[in-house]
Amino acid sequence: MISTRCIIIFLALAVLSGYANGHISGESHSLDVKIIDLGSGIFELRTDQAGNVAVLIGEDGVFMVDTQMENLVESIDKAQKRLSDSRDVDLVLNTHFHRDHVRGNAYFKSRGAIIMAHPNVRRYIENPKAIKQLGRTAPSFTHQYLPTIDVTEDTSIHINGQSIDLYHTHNAHTNSDLFVVFREANVIHAGDLVYTQRFPFIDIDNGGSVEGYIAGIKSIIEVANKDTRVIAGHGPTATIDDLKATISMLVDTHEIVAKLIADGLFLDEILALEPLEGFSDKWSWGFITADRMIVTHYYDITGKLK
Ligand SMILES: [Zn+2]
Repeated sequence: MISTRCIIIFLALAVLSGYANGHISGESHSLDVKIIDLGSGIFELRTDQAGNVAVLIGEDGVFMVDTQMENLVESIDKAQKRLSDSRDVDLVLNTHFHRDHVRGNAYFKSRGAIIMAHPNVRRYIENPKAIKQLGRTAPSFTHQYLPTIDVTEDTSIHINGQSIDLYHTHNAHTNSDLFVVFREANVIHAGDLVYTQRFPFIDIDNGGSVEGYIAGIKSIIEVANKDTRVIAGHGPTATIDDLKATISMLVDTHEIVAKLIADGLFLDEILALEPLEGFSDKWSWGFITADRMIVTHYYDITGKLK
């Protein structure tokens, strides 16, 4: 197994250059982009503020998986340009429609990139009102955010000596998920089918389901082996053991909540019992706490939020 070389490049994002390009309208800031070299020209780019990005760089061009947010995308591009000898990104793949994975699309599209995604990504970007997101108002998209190519079935791309296989998983994290297998390099970008060592967000309002999420992780394991490095949507690079541990946790926590529902308890009564307390230390984090995981299972099973 190739050992992971971890290079941390601190990119001081020059505020002046941002203003000159007209892309930064807020206060000054700098941003560190962590670059993890996974071999064969594949790098993971991480800000830990939005979905993890992968790039494959080589003679044929620059292929990028996910594009983060408007306020992060310039730093992401600077990081990839340091690796690619200042080339622009040629091809982008969005793993799903969530904004922290697609809101850099316009930046790269205006610089010549072609964007691929499942058709439901296009559907949501064309009509953001179709996205249910807990009462938040989604900022508007322009046509520059729209994917150019729909990926409707399992698809392969051949670039830079890699066979890259794209797989759609039904009703998993959302109803627009693709995961990406770099076959020769034995690297996978899982999108938000993997939250490494933390409770996952499962977007039930937008086509996700616990059963589909577990099936999605299983379909990643099916095409992987013990040496596969998995780029998570959120969190550090994962192993197949991390994926198996997430499946066990989801099966166990789902059973616990399902039994309490079968006993006739409502959501507030289940929350008061803190039945997932034993999972909290290992899996809770800022976004998805044990309580939020209970709500996810309850909503998944009953279709209700009370
Ligand atoms: Zn997501």
